[in-house]
Amino acid sequence: MGDAGQNCDHNGNGKGKEGVITHIVLFKYRPHIPWTDLQSHFDSFLQLPQKCLHPDTNKPYMLSMRAGKNQSWESFSKGMTHGFVLEFGSQEDLDYYLTEDPIHLAFSKAAKPFIEDSVVVDIRDSVLFGPSPPKPASKPKTYNGSCHCGAIGWTARLEKAEHVLCHCSTCQKLGGGPYSLNAIISSDDLNILKGSPKVYTYKGASGKSVHCFYCGNCTSHIYHQQEVLEGKVIVRTILLEGGEGWEVGGEIFGEGRLGWV
Ligand SMILES: [Zn+2]
Ligand SMILES: [Zn+2]
Repeated sequence: MGDAGQNCDHNGNGKGKEGVITHIVLFKYRPHIPWTDLQSHFDSFLQLPQKCLHPDTNKPYMLSMRAGKNQSWESFSKGMTHGFVLEFGSQEDLDYYLTEDPIHLAFSKAAKPFIEDSVVVDIRDSVLFGPSPPKPASKPKTYNGSCHCGAIGWTARLEKAEHVLCHCSTCQKLGGGPYSLNAIISSDDLNILKGSPKVYTYKGASGKSVHCFYCGNCTSHIYHQQEVLEGKVIVRTILLEGGEGWEVGGEIFGEGRLGWV
């Protein structure tokens, strides 16, 4: 991929060099990725300094990127095949890059199948002691949802992009699978934009009713409303855009977990 240094000089926040944080990434690429796929992956990687834009200024904020194949003849690479050294003007900029920047997140998702292993270290020049910054708190975000046939469309605002697995026997029976994927949100944070779900109601363990809202055409369950949980709804998170990439944030009704799950 050559020496594709991109030494842009966009210091978005005007901070001096002392604020600079260097994000060092080593990748071990899988051995059998077709050359053409790798080439287009590297092309989009090297475009990140121009394409990643700061949400406030709408200008590039990555200060620099250096990238290349491992050239070391020593035997300490731990199998890492390529190195990337990125500079950011502040921890906030790096946090934005890692957790929110849609361009970087889309790139990472596409790159995932190519990468077998990685090492990441962030350094500040001359800072040799002291704690690491905390993991940034995830911000609430609104996601689009759709049923299988597309007749119903909605948005759900979630505090965290994660799934809570429910192993209860009702979820198993309604979904025909070992567990369901959920988030409990305020009913104000759910907006049905298109179509109107049908309702199936049953008596929950509390003796109070549970209303299940589903698509009358394709039967996808969109959300449930338990009368015991006033002002809340339980949305099915796997029907939300991007849900297939989220982690598991918790589990409920673990006693119903099937032996092989
Ligand atoms: Zn449907
Ligand atoms: Zn359940």
